[in-house]
Amino acid sequence: MLSELKLSDEEGRLRALERYDVLDTVAEVPFEKIVALVQQVLDVPMCAVSLIDRHRQWFKARRGLDVCETARDVSFCTHAIKTPEPLVVRDAAADPRFAQNPLVVGPPFIRAYAGIPLRTPEGYNIGSLCAIDTKPREFPEPQIAVLASFAKLVVDELELRQIASSDHLSGALSRRAFMAQAIAEAERARRYDRPLSLAVLDIDFFKKVNDTYGHAAGDVAIKRIAEAAMAAVRGSDAVGRIGGEEFALLMPETTADNARLFAERLRATIEGLDIDAPPKIRVTVSIGVAQFDGDAEKIEATLARADRALYAAKHAGRNRVAVAETEKADAD
Ligand code: GH3
Ligand code: MG
Ligand code: MG
Repeated sequence: MLSELKLSDEEGRLRALERYDVLDTVAEVPFEKIVALVQQVLDVPMCAVSLIDRHRQWFKARRGLDVCETARDVSFCTHAIKTPEPLVVRDAAADPRFAQNPLVVGPPFIRAYAGIPLRTPEGYNIGSLCAIDTKPREFPEPQIAVLASFAKLVVDELELRQIASSDHLSGALSRRAFMAQAIAEAERARRYDRPLSLAVLDIDFFKKVNDTYGHAAGDVAIKRIAEAAMAAVRGSDAVGRIGGEEFALLMPETTADNARLFAERLRATIEGLDIDAPPKIRVTVSIGVAQFDGDAEKIEATLARADRALYAAKHAGRNRVAVAETEKADAD
């Protein structure tokens, strides 16, 4: 369900935009397709997915526009995000709000504009999908309706992209993306009766790291550990950041015994890392391992068992690996 539109919470709006992690990224097919279609269907020379940052508008996708961003104060889309309604300007030269605008009197010589706010499910207008012409023109209602449908698609794509994407800080998969992959692998392991293991890793005494060296240093440590884990795993494995300083590893074709050996090597690697926070700091991790029991459980239950093994590793003194019991672990 859509929440109430929040038009006056600028800081909240900027955070909502930031969470999409999309500013200054490279071109991506879904957005390129949308602007190409809008250009064609509305028969306009220019079209853009414009995102309104604090001081600029940045184009995630654009057609017929030479620059990838403009100052916010000259942008039409800044006006478009201020209302729930589409912003339609039939002749910018005759509109006191835009007649002197540098984008009207100079390149790209905008004369007509239709922009639909990109409204997030939380209710923030983070930008607009706009169609632009260099001649005055009408945008009949059916065209506005098409543009509005495409604007919804843009937001859907931003949402999907976020679910599928990796974690901003560590580069590991997001929790949701990791679990989606774990569910798919579990299904495969069950169907073909193949081993599959999970490991859960938590940094030891991490509160102390933050307290002693600061949160930014803590972030560096999280990043280095993620990198170490991602460098250590096989191509078919996955690494997800499932909590603030907790990671999970998904290891297809791996028994609990082999997962334990792998986890032990990773534990030793992390113990030996010189993390340049700065200053140089060292951290250790505890790891819990569990093998998926295809007949008896869902992968979420395997994760819970790995988590209990992790707790046991913590309890036994940290900087160690513990394996959850399974019937299958010894059989393979
Ligand atoms: P334990 O050995 O039992 O794991 O002790 P711990 O201090 O690591 O305890 P816990 O795992 O509960 O601590 C998690 C801490 O991690 C608390 C939280 O402030 C910090 N944290 C969570 N996410 C982040 C993050 O993204 N960056 C930083 N710097 N710290 C984080
Ligand atoms: Mg923790
Ligand atoms: Mg911890």
